Amino acid sequence: MSRSEDLYSRAQKRIPGGVNSPVRAFNGVGGTPLFFQKGEGAYVYDEDGKRYIDYVGSWGPMILGHNHPDVIGAVRKQLDFGLSFGAPTEVEITMAEKVCELVPSMDMVRMVNSGTEATMSAIRLSRGYTGRDKIVKFEGCYHGHSDSLLVKAGSGALTLGVPNSPGVPADLAQHTITLQFNDIEEVKACFNEIGDQIACVIVEPVAGNMNCIPPAAGFLETLREVCDQSGAVLIFDEVMTGFRVALGGAQEKFNIKPDLTTLGKVIGAGMPVGAFGGKREIMEHISPLGPVYQAGTLSGNPVAMVAGLAVLNKISEPDFHKTLESKTIALVTGIQAAADELNVPLVTVCAGGGMFGLFFTDQECVTTFADVQKCDTDKFKLFFHHLLEEGVYLAPSAFEAGFTSQAHSEEDIAFTVAAAKRALAKLV
Ligand code: PLP
Repeated sequence: MSRSEDLYSRAQKRIPGGVNSPVRAFNGVGGTPLFFQKGEGAYVYDEDGKRYIDYVGSWGPMILGHNHPDVIGAVRKQLDFGLSFGAPTEVEITMAEKVCELVPSMDMVRMVNSGTEATMSAIRLSRGYTGRDKIVKFEGCYHGHSDSLLVKAGSGALTLGVPNSPGVPADLAQHTITLQFNDIEEVKACFNEIGDQIACVIVEPVAGNMNCIPPAAGFLETLREVCDQSGAVLIFDEVMTGFRVALGGAQEKFNIKPDLTTLGKVIGAGMPVGAFGGKREIMEHISPLGPVYQAGTLSGNPVAMVAGLAVLNKISEPDFHKTLESKTIALVTGIQAAADELNVPLVTVCAGGGMFGLFFTDQECVTTFADVQKCDTDKFKLFFHHLLEEGVYLAPSAFEAGFTSQAHSEEDIAFTVAAAKRALAKLV
């Protein structure tokens, strides 16, 4: 028995499903989840000491790779001063200033402890600001596990086949309107009918929770237009794309300014951090300035802030994202070429910076949730396990994006492409 198998059976006795977040349980691919002991650069090491090239990066935060000296050094230094005060600290201001500098649509920002909190709070703020109840989201997009947003959700909810969770009151879910990602006409029709009742549109500008689907030409522009016309708040959920597809996130890459932005993952460097922010006029409705209540005992925690700031400073260095993107392109074009040579139907996507997708399908391209559902998840499972044997760790679900980091070397990419070729050959 491997140590992971041993730990998994122990974990299952006291932790539901043996994990503290569902998609870690390997339900999407079968088998025993790996228990990790440490990470270093582009690699993670399991409890049996086996090394893997990591394309999960703790589901996104590890844009510098694991255990980066700047991050660890900043945390060590802060530890000498104490863990938490429940009172303001200077580093929170520095963080807010840095975020607003990198994401110019954000005039003000409030720190929270997770992406879920960020989106939940942004939705409440939009409802409080507009005085309207209805929200629009897109099928297959995932915005965390708050009640209003667990309607036709992606990510683990999709992997486990529960996009609508029991426990979400129907009275609340009825206010969540779900449309098709990249369907411009459907968005327009919805707003023509009930635009004046809609508080906000929340969207992943690149949908990373149903694999990896970039926005179609004109889609984000249409969202901006209908929100401007109707007075609805446009929220870009950049928990995944923020600081990853470009320094200023997807809004910089696609040149669209949302009213509010939600952030997570990279901003915390692996510590529990999220943030939401945007136009001053809207943010001034948050307590204690305004009446929309939102709070957090540990929000803006100084240890988490110094870790996040270390990452934001590092990724602000010239050409950071250009270099990262060239690695991601080398990876996906290498895997695509191998698949083409072997006649394995595969579509690969680089969404910019360090974010990519792999779809096992004979469709020409994958642009909608319906297209994603036509992909071959059985092939993905086999591919995943073959790569795991080779020492390459992909997200354990066909519905998740992949992430590269600064720490991935050319050799790591070349090794992965060669391993992928061997894995693909076994699928023929
Ligand atoms: N929004 C997006 C786009 C996400 O990808 C996620 C998590 O994967 C969340 C929100 C929720 O973030 P968290 O898991 O930190 O609550």
